[in-house]
Formats: sequence, C-alpha cells, structure tokens
Amino acid sequence: MRVPSAAEAWDLRPEEAWSPEPLPWQEAAWEALAARRRAGRLPHALLLAGPHGVGKGRLARALALALLCPGAGADGRACGVCPACRQAAAGSHPDLLVLEPEGRGRPLTVDQVRGATERLATTAQYGGWRVVLLAPAEAMNLHAANALLKTLEEPGEGSLLLLLSEAPGRLPATVRSRCQRLDLPRPPREAALAWLRGQLPNEADPALLLDLAGGAPLAALELARGEALALRRELWRELEALARGEGDALAAAERWHRADLPALLRWWWLGAADLARLRAGAGAPRAGADLRPLLGRLAPLVEARRLHDFLQELARGRRRLEGQANARLLLEELLLGWRELFAQTRGGRSP
Ligand SMILES: [Zn+2]
Repeated sequence: MRVPSAAEAWDLRPEEAWSPEPLPWQEAAWEALAARRRAGRLPHALLLAGPHGVGKGRLARALALALLCPGAGADGRACGVCPACRQAAAGSHPDLLVLEPEGRGRPLTVDQVRGATERLATTAQYGGWRVVLLAPAEAMNLHAANALLKTLEEPGEGSLLLLLSEAPGRLPATVRSRCQRLDLPRPPREAALAWLRGQLPNEADPALLLDLAGGAPLAALELARGEALALRRELWRELEALARGEGDALAAAERWHRADLPALLRWWWLGAADLARLRAGAGAPRAGADLRPLLGRLAPLVEARRLHDFLQELARGRRRLEGQANARLLLEELLLGWRELFAQTRGGRSP
C-alpha cells in the first residue's frame, strides 16, 4: 500500500487528521495534559473515553505530535512543520505506531498488539518518546488484551500508550485498571454548532445534523459527507408507505441489512418516540425537525398503547443487533411489526 505524502495526510479528513491543535472544546483537557507533561507526570497509558464523534482521535494525535516534535512551543503544541511532525502525519515516524482493525467490525489481533509492544520495548529511534495509539481499544480480543498487559505493567521509559474507546466498559478490567482514564464527553451544543458552521457547506443544516448525530460534532460531519442522510430519508419514506399498507418490508430488509444498521435503528427509534410524543401532544421532537410533517401524518393512524409496545420492540432490536443477531431477519421482523402497528386504522386488514 502506498503511504500518503505528508501534504496529503494533512488534507485527509481534516477534522480527524494529524493536527497540533486540539478541537476547540478540548482546550481544558489539553491544558490538563500539557500541565502534566510539564510536571513530568504523564502516565504510561492513557485511556481516552467518550462517545463516537467527539474527537478522541484528534486529541490523541495532537498529544502524540506534541511528544514527538522537537520544536514544540511553550503551550505544549507541536510545530506541525518539522520533519518529525511530517513523518508522524505521513505514518512513517519510527517511534509512532497507530493500531487499528483491518476493516470495520474486525478485531485488533494479538499479532498487531505484539508488534506494538515490541516497538515500545525498544529504544526510541530519535531518542525521544515512543507512542502507540490504539483505536478502538474495545476491538482487542482477549488474547490481544492479554498481550498488552505486560507492557501496561512494565512500560518502558518514555513510552506512551494511548487507548481510545467508545465503550470502555467492554475492556477487560485488567486493562482498564492499568490506564489513567480521561473522559471526553459531548461538547456543549453552542460550541459544537459554532465549529460545525465553519466546516459545513452553506446549504447544510448544522443543527439538524448535530441532533441526528446525538450531539457529537465529528459524527455530524460524517453524516453530512456520507450517504447516511439519504438512507434516513429512504427509511422514513418506506416506513410511511408501510404504515399506509403499501411498501415492501422484505425488499427493504434486503436492501438495508448491510447498511449502517445501528444508525438506522437509532433514527427509527427516535422518530417513533417523537410519534409517541406527538400522540401525547407534548414534547419537542428529537428525531429532526424535518420529520415533523411526516410524523404529523402518521400520528392519527396509530394507537398510543401499541406504539409504546413497538418502541420496546425496537429497543430490544437494537440490543439484539449488538448481540450479532441475523440482521436481515431482525429488520424484516421489525418492518412487518411496524406495518402491523398501523393495520387497525387501515380497517384491521392483516398484511
Ligand atoms: Zn514539529
């Protein structure tokens, strides 16, 4: 595989790319880390924990750069232009290793982790820090986690292991207890919106995107770039058709079972919950203001009690999906259940 040049690496997905700058809402976390570094009290293993899309990777990269850059400023930030910074950004710095699974949903393997621990055990090529960034840490299987334990117990001098995790609870307690944890929550809404406005094209709706991303700004940006919004529109078009006794649940399940199902089920659940609130005549919409007209059309067609039961079914579906349930069958069941939900107001016809 061709290694991208430094210039390309800096341009790649600018919000998560290598940058000496933490994100605006990370200033306090950054300053705390910089202060500990000045005091010579950086831990050997740091667990950056927080939801998807809050910028854990960006903060970890800024810290890695700061440690590797010989020209870091008084504020602790890397210079971003020296050979060490450029090598780090290009993935060719000999004292830096980034460990990621080799594909979505794949584990971090014991071989990958061994490569990292060997790197940390040798002396730094450039005489400074050695840094390993491991993300997502919960992708380590048990063998991999065990392989990491020895390094966590006897870290080499001047080495830093950065573990990033959206689900720190899934890490073995043996790993968690040997790391210092830094929680990175979702930023305040105003800070997130201010930043998003600067990243998005004019026609985009930052508030809607941020809502759909559950308040995580980088996840909102991903939504704006990817096909997720189109999938959401398609989902609700189909759900309205099914509610009217039209549409094709089996074909939809076939189309979507390889899509981003956690997101799809989440939007469905949010929309259905809004529908329940509409029925109760209360509450602000959480599924996005653009869905209001559609939900307004569906609200008179559904019975509140049955909708409540269906919401629980959806929640169960989300959990079953985490347990690796058969995605297509699960989707079929839920889509047929949704159609059934509206069947009574269509005259009690069964599908
Ligand atoms: Zn530098």
